[in-house]
Amino acid sequence: MKKHLVEPGKKIKLSERDPQDIGDFKGGKEEGLKAISKLNEKLQELQELLYAEGRHKVLVVLQAMDTGGKDGAIRRVFDGVNPQGVKVASFKVPTGEELAHDFLWRIHKQTPASGEIVIFNRSHYEDVLVVRVHGYVDKNVWSKRYEQINAFERILAENGTTILKFFLHISKDEQKERLQARLDDPTKHWKFSLGDLDERKLWGDYQAAYEDVLNKTSSTHAPWYIVPANRKWYRDLVISKILVETLENLNMKYPEPKDDLSGIVIE
Ligand code: AMP
Ligand code: MG
Repeated sequence: MKKHLVEPGKKIKLSERDPQDIGDFKGGKEEGLKAISKLNEKLQELQELLYAEGRHKVLVVLQAMDTGGKDGAIRRVFDGVNPQGVKVASFKVPTGEELAHDFLWRIHKQTPASGEIVIFNRSHYEDVLVVRVHGYVDKNVWSKRYEQINAFERILAENGTTILKFFLHISKDEQKERLQARLDDPTKHWKFSLGDLDERKLWGDYQAAYEDVLNKTSSTHAPWYIVPANRKWYRDLVISKILVETLENLNMKYPEPKDDLSGIVIE
């Protein structure tokens, strides 16, 4: 999985990352789904432990082009995980009140408390993506935000937050197929917005903006992973595996009981 990490300080080119890649995984989809299911069981145990221990905070950031699979990944990776202690925060077009504050104001409020996992479905990175591509603020404003984001994430990390950031990388052709599938299925129409077609025309600008994000904001305490996401099962496998390995490395323990429980008899 290290293969998908954006090593801090190294420059990546998105065009050299294959959205179709399945890394070193030898099995196909069937094996992949089995592996995801095993990882999911582990994730459920680790989340329970995280909640019980109440010490660590975990933030998972998901970013992608439209139809990149953020919703699907959340559904599959966190399937069956106890909703107590896990939250999803989705960031939409900012409200007037949000716009009247600095761009991190609405974000900071949603960060995880001790014992919690919070998944960001879109995030503060929109403020150097859609905002940059559309020029909603001047360049001298958005160009300072990479450093501001790094500083913000350092504050979170130094205060006990483990941060993982995933860019779900799909190809332009794959997006076409997924948009078409949404058009063809009336139960998916609610997900289709005409605006998605305008955004699609800006594909190249978005890829450039993503490349800057990945190159400027991957750090040891808040690393980016580029997840090949054309194949949904491989996308979910990568996220599950990195999440489980990261939680295992926290070496969490169930807390000691507050009272001496030895010799207690329940009548
Ligand atoms: P969806 O995730 O499909 O529900 O769409 C949410 C929309 O909100 C996307 O088009 C995002 O680009 C947009 N959005 C999220 N954050 C911001 C932001 N900070 N500024 C402008 N638009 C945003
Ligand atoms: Mg959308």
